[in-house]
Parts: sequence; C-alpha cells; structure tokens
Amino acid sequence: MIKRTFTEVNRLKWRFARIISLPRIFNFLLYLIDRIFPAPRAKARPMAVMIEPTNKCNLRCPMCPAVIEGTLGMRPDMTADFFSSVVGSLSSHAFYLALWNYGEPLMNKNIEHMIKCAVDKKFLVEMHTNAQLLDKLTEKAFFNGNTGVSGYLPDKMSISVDSINEETYRYYRKGGELSILKNNVRDFILRRNTFKLSKPWVSVQFILMKNNADEIEGTSSIKAFAKDLGVDDYVIKYFSYRGDNLEEYLPTKKNLRLKQGGKNTRKLCTRPWNSTVVLSDGTVLPCCYDYSNEWPMGNLNTKSFSEIWNDVPYSEFRASLISGKVPKICINCPGKSFGTLFSK
Ligand code: SF4
Repeated sequence: MIKRTFTEVNRLKWRFARIISLPRIFNFLLYLIDRIFPAPRAKARPMAVMIEPTNKCNLRCPMCPAVIEGTLGMRPDMTADFFSSVVGSLSSHAFYLALWNYGEPLMNKNIEHMIKCAVDKKFLVEMHTNAQLLDKLTEKAFFNGNTGVSGYLPDKMSISVDSINEETYRYYRKGGELSILKNNVRDFILRRNTFKLSKPWVSVQFILMKNNADEIEGTSSIKAFAKDLGVDDYVIKYFSYRGDNLEEYLPTKKNLRLKQGGKNTRKLCTRPWNSTVVLSDGTVLPCCYDYSNEWPMGNLNTKSFSEIWNDVPYSEFRASLISGKVPKICINCPGKSFGTLFSK
C-alpha cells in the first residue's frame, strides 16, 4: 500500500460526520423501501448527483464518447448562480456530488466557487480531471491573498492518466502532456501536505486499452508511478465505451476486457432511484452512461427537480427497468462494478 500522510481513521471522521443530517437519514430509509419495493415513482430523492460544470475540454481524447459523437463543447457552461440553485435544491437529501461528466471541470471559470458552494452545503465532493490545468486551481485553492488555504478544495480528486509512457499518453490524451500532469500533481500534493490538510484524497486512474495494457497489466510500474507522484491510491478500470470502433481501443487479451454483447447481466439497476445527472445546460439525465442524451428527463431551467424526478420520462425509464425490457442505453451496461478491475 502506498504510504499515506494521514490515517484512514482521521479522514473518515471528517468525511462522514459532515454529511450526516436527519433529512438525509430519512431519505436513505425511504430509499431502502424503494430497493425492496421498486416502483416507477420513487419514494426517495437521489442521494448522489453528478453535475457537469462544462461540456468543453482542453483535450481531444479519441476514445471519448463526446469526441466521437461530436457533442463536445456544444452545451453552454453552467453559471455559478445556476449551480448554487441546483445544489441548493438537492442538498436536503443528496450527500455525494460528482463534479464532472463530459468536459474538463477546470475549464469552467467558476469551478472553485462551485466546489466551495457544494462543500458549504455539506456534500462529499469528488472532482475528476485530466490535471493539465490543475495549477490554476492549486494557486486559487491554497492561497487566499497570501493568508492561507481558501477552502476551494474537493474531498476527493480523481485524475485520468491512462499511460505512464509519454508517447502513449499523447495518443490517448490528445493535446495533453504527461510531464505537465506530473508537475501539476506533485505541486498540488506538496502544498496539500505542507498545509497538513486531510483532503482532497488524490487518486490516479488508468483505463485499460490496447496500447497501454502491457504497462498496466503488471501493476508494479503503476505503483511506482503513483508513489513517485505522492498520490493516495491508484485505480485501474476496464474500457467501457460501447461505440462501433471498439476493437481499436479494447485490449487484445480477452480477460482485460469488460464483457461485451449479450444481455445486461446486472440485477435491477438502482441508479435511477438513488442518483441523477445534471448537464451543464440544465438537462437532467438518468445516468452518466446516457452518452447521447437519449433519455432527457427535463430541464432545470424550466422545471424544478421535484417536478422532474417523478415525471413521466423518469417513471417510464424506471418502469422499463423493472419490467426487464431495459432501455437501449442499459443494454451492455458498462456500469457493472463501475468497470473497476483493480485498485489500491
Ligand atoms: S446504463 Fe447501466 S447504470 Fe445506467 S441506468 Fe442503465 S443499467 Fe443502470
């Protein structure tokens, strides 16, 4: 295990004490009823929410669904005011916030205010980034007019790496440089440790693909890479995109592939009862695997979340899962075990 600066116990203490409240506990109990007696209308509200700050990205990764489908950069950035109204409307029941979807969150100029707003609303905040622009957040987050740490920090930060080889990195993370990622992450961790902060937990992520399978399969090089950066853990995931050009990206060895084809093997998926996705233009989706917005549930610019959550589209989506006639987006669902092969 990679040496950690702070003990797990200390981290867990602040993580969970902060997010517990009576309405959230009550909502969780309602969710247990939804699990036992799943119905098209959910009794509980979502406990987890994914919000897309921006649909723009500084990279053009060839395997990204938004690049392949030409949807990258098509939606306007979410404004700080809209974000705080969305987060405010969800905070009485939801406690986990994933701050990304399709786009690089650090491309939104209000990202640090969004993080602070969500942390203030007592969300457990996780952000996923390619870390090419991390230096900007580092500067704003750790210095508030030279008076100290400003509070613009998520609880967890996951970083897409995918390859520890500069050439392969450039192929998969088109437009990015591994050296920039390494410098930015090292500097971020150094400052976090200098200020003796217990957050964010920093994790590096590798997705198994054709050209990086060799470097990832024997995890010793990944472990050394993660240790050298000083991050808290690393995660290796299966490649999960389901487009036509899969063979271009899938590892050659079958045991390194997420099972493709055939029926959806998940038991009843609970995501549409416990989580939701909000795109940067306010569109609500049932799941982040709805790459092409096939199931828009409504838009928060024109309806409240309460109106959308049990409206006809959401109820129909849940009903089709219950009936076993799963929606098209759920066939070959890549969400099985969240596609994780290995983590440490
Ligand atoms: S795509 Fe998978 S995770 Fe998403 S709602 Fe369908 S079954 Fe659930």
